[in-house]
Amino acid sequence: PVDSEELGRSGWTVLHTMAAYYPENPSENVQKDMKNFMTLLSRLYPCKRCAKDLRKDLKDDPPDVTSQKSLANWMCNLHNKVNEKLGKPLFDCSKVNERWRDGWKD
Ligand code: FAD
Repeated sequence: PVDSEELGRSGWTVLHTMAAYYPENPSENVQKDMKNFMTLLSRLYPCKRCAKDLRKDLKDDPPDVTSQKSLANWMCNLHNKVNEKLGKPLFDCSKVNERWRDGWKD
């Protein structure tokens, strides 16, 4: 069976890193690709109950793919919904680029 914790840590690394290096001014095609990526992920993600909740989350709050900042913030909020559900601490989304792109400021 799938180890949803191990899969999740790797999954979030891919997703937050994609958001961290997403263009500041994405073309229409790039925006469409990012939306499609999240939709397809929610169909194919191998933790079945995670995928089911993800499909609902995407419906309630579709990805904001208009800029790097908006996508990184949207991804952070998505992750926080899962954190909340699992009783994990919420992440401060103002620090998302520090965590996934720039390195922590000291
Ligand atoms: P993770 O939650 O994996 O976080 C990894 C690192 O990300 C943290 O150490 C922290 O530095 C950083 N981080 C934490 N929160 C944020 C944030 N909001 N924004 C940016 N960075 C952050 N598990 C389930 O049991 N049920 C589910 O329904 C479920 N749905 C999932 C949906 C998706 C799309 C993904 C990718 C994973 C899902 N998981 C689910 C897995 C779950 O979210 C965790 O990955 C797993 O429980 C391991 O948690 P962790 O405590 O190691 O840290």
